[in-house]
Amino acid sequence: MAKKRILSGMRPTGKLHLGHYVGALENWIKLQNEYESFHLVADYHVLTTNLNTDEIYNNTLEMVMDWLAVGINPETTPMFRQSQIKEHAELFLIFSMLVTKARLERNPTLKDQIRDLNIENVIYGHLGYPVLQSADILLYKGEKVPVGEDQVPHVEITREIARKFNNQYGLVFPEPEPLLTKFSRLPGLDGGSKMSKSLNNTILISETPEDVQKKLRKAVTDPQKIRRNDPGHPEVCTIFTYHKRFNPEEVPEIEKSCRSGELGCVDCKLKCTAKINEFLDPIREKRSVYENDKNKVLEILLDGERKASEVAKETMSEVHEKMKLG
Ligand code: ATP
Ligand code: MG
Repeated sequence: MAKKRILSGMRPTGKLHLGHYVGALENWIKLQNEYESFHLVADYHVLTTNLNTDEIYNNTLEMVMDWLAVGINPETTPMFRQSQIKEHAELFLIFSMLVTKARLERNPTLKDQIRDLNIENVIYGHLGYPVLQSADILLYKGEKVPVGEDQVPHVEITREIARKFNNQYGLVFPEPEPLLTKFSRLPGLDGGSKMSKSLNNTILISETPEDVQKKLRKAVTDPQKIRRNDPGHPEVCTIFTYHKRFNPEEVPEIEKSCRSGELGCVDCKLKCTAKINEFLDPIREKRSVYENDKNKVLEILLDGERKASEVAKETMSEVHEKMKLG
């Protein structure tokens, strides 16, 4: 039996951070052998929040280097740019007829972005973000979509669009399901609920060891633990969440000594810094190989685009046939 497909993407808005890693990339790596995986650089989706395209190419390379550095295998897993496969735009157009404006206005992820980025007038394409994403997923008949929690409402819209198409024209698309990791929402260094580039509270995958240390030193912890010996509340502390992911063996001990007041935040942060750096060391090393050979990264994309294009063309010919177009 053919392997089931996974489709997931990210917007090339700069270097990736640990939120992207624990929320999505970790699953991409884990599942790439079990499923046939496709990973998309959502370069059109960038335009929903930034019309300036000067940085897109460079950001694409940076992001794909992060993907490669954490272990996405270019031999088995096509990585490709949305803008280079014309079928994304075509399927987006068809799908935009299958969803109402009211449904898209209810999307909680859009509401969060409007708030976080202080958007006053929402552009049509931003409202349509999940419609383009539905086209991205369904063009490859993705059955599983490994994403962070903020993307779950978009996968739900994708399911609804798939159902609507299948009912109207005949069965073409699966109804995909999100695949979440244990850390589907990693908090930011400011103590805020989500690590996010636009909130400026990130640790990058490509961060230098010194910068990891500096950033953690300034991170917000339990606001009630002011002096070293004050008893702490690990459940409200971002650093404790980082320990859970990057230092699980020491978690029981840290929890106990934080609560009792034996462990101060400075030492706790140093432990965390060491563990995160230990985790990032091999990733940094692998990344540096690609940093010195950016042509290789472009070749990987071009190769991925050839593979993705074949699948996209097949799906679109099925769509045309069912819709009796052409
Ligand atoms: P940011 O949210 O930092 O501005 P972005 O909006 O450019 O980045 P997306 O393309 O929205 O990035 O996210 C890529 C993937 O990473 C999505 O699957 C998203 O759910 C996941 N993700 C992003 N931030 C986090 C986080 N803090 N915790 C868990 N998953 C996250
Ligand atoms: Mg985001």
